[in-house]
Amino acid sequence: MAREQMHYDVVIIGAGPAGLAAACRLRQLDANVSVCLLEKGAEVGAHIMSGAVFEPRALNELFPDWKSQGAPLDTAVTNEDWRFFTSAEKSIQIPNALLPHTVHNHGNFIISLGKLCQWLAEQATNLGVDIFPGFAAEQVLFRDDGSVGGVITGDMGRAADGSEKPEFVEGIELHGKYTLFCEGARGHLGKSLIAHFNLNEGKDPQHYSIGIKEIWRVPADQHNEGLVMHSLGWPLSETNTSGGGFLYHMNDSQISVGLITDLCYSNTHLSPFDEFQRFKHHPAIAKYLSGGERIAYGARAIVKGGIQSLPQMFFSGGLLLGDDAGTLNFTKIKGSHTAMKSGIIGAEVIVKALSAGRSNDSLSEYETEYKKSWAYEELYEQRNVGPAQQKFGAILGSAYSFIDMTLRGKLPWTLHNKKADHSQLQLASECKKINYPKPDNKLSFDKLSSVYLSNTNHVENQPCHLQLKDPSVPLAINLPKFDEPAQRYCPAGVYEIIEAANGEKKFQINSQNCVHCKTCDIKDPTQNIQWVTPEGGGGPNYSAM
Ligand SMILES: Cc1cc2nc3c(=O)[nH]c(=O)nc-3n(C[C@H](O)[C@H](O)[C@H](O)COP(=O)(O)OP(=O)(O)OC[C@H]3O[C@@H](n4cnc5c(N)ncnc54)[C@H](O)[C@@H]3O)c2cc1C
Ligand code: SF4
Repeated sequence: MAREQMHYDVVIIGAGPAGLAAACRLRQLDANVSVCLLEKGAEVGAHIMSGAVFEPRALNELFPDWKSQGAPLDTAVTNEDWRFFTSAEKSIQIPNALLPHTVHNHGNFIISLGKLCQWLAEQATNLGVDIFPGFAAEQVLFRDDGSVGGVITGDMGRAADGSEKPEFVEGIELHGKYTLFCEGARGHLGKSLIAHFNLNEGKDPQHYSIGIKEIWRVPADQHNEGLVMHSLGWPLSETNTSGGGFLYHMNDSQISVGLITDLCYSNTHLSPFDEFQRFKHHPAIAKYLSGGERIAYGARAIVKGGIQSLPQMFFSGGLLLGDDAGTLNFTKIKGSHTAMKSGIIGAEVIVKALSAGRSNDSLSEYETEYKKSWAYEELYEQRNVGPAQQKFGAILGSAYSFIDMTLRGKLPWTLHNKKADHSQLQLASECKKINYPKPDNKLSFDKLSSVYLSNTNHVENQPCHLQLKDPSVPLAINLPKFDEPAQRYCPAGVYEIIEAANGEKKFQINSQNCVHCKTCDIKDPTQNIQWVTPEGGGGPNYSAM
């Protein structure tokens, strides 16, 4: 029997800032355009993980009256503190006057991006967008002429062995005249489209970080609403790894604290999760968290390659938008506003195309419009920062970046980083071991109690969504060469090497713990792990990340 089908003018995958902004703009411009939006999280916002200091530029364009409409931008940034952590005990403050203009946060807001997405979803629904949370887009639907014609959602009720359980419901076909892929960093359909249409030809490999974050409720006298703190240096400096920390004082005595570790790190013994746990013990962080209560945990990859790694964003029948393509401005650690802008431009281009009677063709004009926008200008200006860190190391790279950014990216060259993150790991025997301290259960914790706070859940007895191209690789190659790094880079304890009493080793995948951060898909040195969508609605259930 043929699958059930639904037809729309525009099908959007992913209810993040990019997808929601595109959906709203489409209906603002033409209320006759039918739009549906699929979201794999159980509800909008459930899979959204961000910092977040939000730059409202794109929101101002989309909803100039957002304030009176009650958008959840409650906490304005009032104060900034940039620090270099010189050791586990000491730090020096970097004077604000020395900071390049691009990292200043005056006029920005400390928000929960998940809550903002829920608000955007309300606006989209009011505008007439059909939003389907709990539905994962599993496959791209190609038309006979080779163009993208929509997506197929994942089946519900399939057992781990592939058989149909009593509650089985087959996935449906969603057909669109245009399909917008807005899955965020390392979207699995985005990845397949980039390969299928060769969208990254001539580009640098895409680069990523992993951001791990917690939300704390702290004693009132340790809270300073509106204060934004960023750090460079320790603990990542011990392994010459780039990245940095953040600590944002939200409202309601809550603090968002996190560590971003660039996934180009080379020491295979490094564990981003444990780096973050020890980061919280630095006195400059601990003084805010001590005596507080940790209330939420999450992790997510961040796309950071910039314009050198930005794939072609159009193809026959659709667009690749937001972090699915890589529109994030890494120097600012901000991608929500640029993702929204990419979605707004996408909607504008599509409404024109539809009104001209076009469908399923190549929206090549998108590139021209995107390149004219402030979102592209931002990426262009910061283009040398990432490659400079990689080329010259954390200290010299930062010095170079400071000059480049002060000159607003006007130096007449473009640096490149041609080495993919997964290829950077060194052999375990060549790397210095790192002895991470045991968690004290006051400031630092273990992975399992952390995952518990992400409310992660997957329906039991379903096909594993972490697929191994070759099941022998973890034990035959990754273990002897790299001491199987998946045990450490996964922030949710999904991958384990289990040793039986007879000494036999087994690679175990605890897929039910997966928080959908995509790090394994990015960092596995043999590119053997493929993240695919689990049954819709599974995964973390973040309430306000
Ligand atoms: C730790 C951390 C700190 C950050 N700090 C900041 C900050 O301070 N300021 C800032 O502006 N940005 C920050 N960012 C970046 C920002 O969160 C992203 O740039 C932004 O969320 C990108 O928006 P997006 O719509 O492209 O993707 P996302 O926000 O990732 O949204 C994608 C959505 O698509 C859904 N989806 C994915 N695949 C499918 C599928 N196949 N089917 C159905 N649904 C699917 C996902 O569940 C998700 O809801 C931070 C990111 C992290 C991880
Ligand atoms: S299994 Fe992969 S995607 Fe899931 S939490 Fe671990 S590293 Fe992230």
